[in-house]
Amino acid sequence: MKVLGIESTAHTLGIGIVDEEEIHANVKSMFEPEEGGIHPRKASEHHYQHALEKINEAEAKTDFQLEDLDAIAFSQGPGIPQCLDVGAVLARTLSKKYEIPLIGVNHCLAHISIGIRTTEAENPTTLYISGGNSQILDLRSGRYRVVGETLDIALGNALDKLARKLGYPHPGGPEIERLAEETDEIIEMSYPIKGMDFSFSGLTTEAERKIDQVDDEVLTNSFQEHAYSAAVEALERAMAQEESTEALLTGGVAMNSRLREMVELMCEQRDAEAYFPPHEFCMDNGAMIAHQGLIELKAGRQTSIENSSKKPNWRPDQVEVEWGI
Ligand code: AMP
Ligand code: MG
Repeated sequence: MKVLGIESTAHTLGIGIVDEEEIHANVKSMFEPEEGGIHPRKASEHHYQHALEKINEAEAKTDFQLEDLDAIAFSQGPGIPQCLDVGAVLARTLSKKYEIPLIGVNHCLAHISIGIRTTEAENPTTLYISGGNSQILDLRSGRYRVVGETLDIALGNALDKLARKLGYPHPGGPEIERLAEETDEIIEMSYPIKGMDFSFSGLTTEAERKIDQVDDEVLTNSFQEHAYSAAVEALERAMAQEESTEALLTGGVAMNSRLREMVELMCEQRDAEAYFPPHEFCMDNGAMIAHQGLIELKAGRQTSIENSSKKPNWRPDQVEVEWGI
């Protein structure tokens, strides 16, 4: 079965086409703000402007036509409302045009499913950290439970904010990583863990206040060490609680090599396996939405036009998992 997936929850417009055997296409266009963070209207305009071009580009990567598709999947939430509208409108249009089912999928669950498809993980505890979300998820009795999560901003958002204050453009994660690699020195900062949850807003403010007192390299290295340690500590506790022997790291921040190193080390120490999807499937992408659509379609799920409105605050634990992982 061939499914086209549309991702448009935030800065990325992604189009993917997959079937059971192959990921045929995974193309994207990223909104890059001239200044500041993601402006919702400007990001959605970017997505509308590039939609047709990216759909054609994805189709050209396959040896079949769009009319051969079996379903259209789209990211129904969570995300920026104006951006979510673009994916929903496109998906409804294509579904009507080709008279094929429409499937609105949960963006967070798609990150996990593509991680399972592109690694050897079977039933991992997932640390999902991106620009808009930071959660630890574990499948239990038919639902992905949110075992831990950020109490305020996402870790990727924190990195982007700090980078912006240091004078770097969006997205700031790669720049923070590059600066931090220049030193081994760490200064003590607050350690943002609260039970099974973590928080990054206070740590970001603390780092911003220290910009003129500490070298950028030392500051970014210290920020990374504190923030990533908190996330990995919560992941380890979740694994202990769930008796899990597999960890999956995903979301845009999962491309960070220091974070990968910490997860790897933690897993080694508890005799567990750590799984890291290839970079192109860590950050927001269309293939993960297409794949999530595929597994839901095979489980008999479809979304009616009436139920296809955006769900900006849709939590992954609201979804009953009726498909095999
Ligand atoms: P996503 O929302 O999943 O597409 O991920 C985007 C987020 O990933 C942004 O906040 C980026 O700053 C962050 N990011 C991208 N590359 C890296 C990296 N190498 N290290 C840390 N964060 C990163
Ligand atoms: Mg994401």
